[in-house]
Amino acid sequence: MVETARYRTILQNRLNELQERLHEIDETLDSHQSRDWEELATEREGDEVLERMGSSGKVEIARIQAALLRMDEGEFGYCVECGDEIAPERLDVVPHTPFCRSCAEKRS
Ligand SMILES: [Zn+2]
Repeated sequence: MVETARYRTILQNRLNELQERLHEIDETLDSHQSRDWEELATEREGDEVLERMGSSGKVEIARIQAALLRMDEGEFGYCVECGDEIAPERLDVVPHTPFCRSCAEKRS
């Protein structure tokens, strides 16, 4: 039996954390808009790092939302590929994973 309630808390906390961070990134990027060119050039590199962090955050958000959806459908904790139960040790490390270990290995 998969401990759905426990993972729901973990996933929701993580989701809140990511959304907060994305919001901060957006604000930082926005505040960099109307500045003079010299400053802009040095900030540009930092902004690219922030943008990358932002897009990897968005990917993780989408995965977490998909996992919460599977939870609502009672499918959380089962591999979407083969239907096997995903090992709790694996869910503890990547709670939003849709794959069991062997399917994840096959895909990578
Ligand atoms: Zn599988």
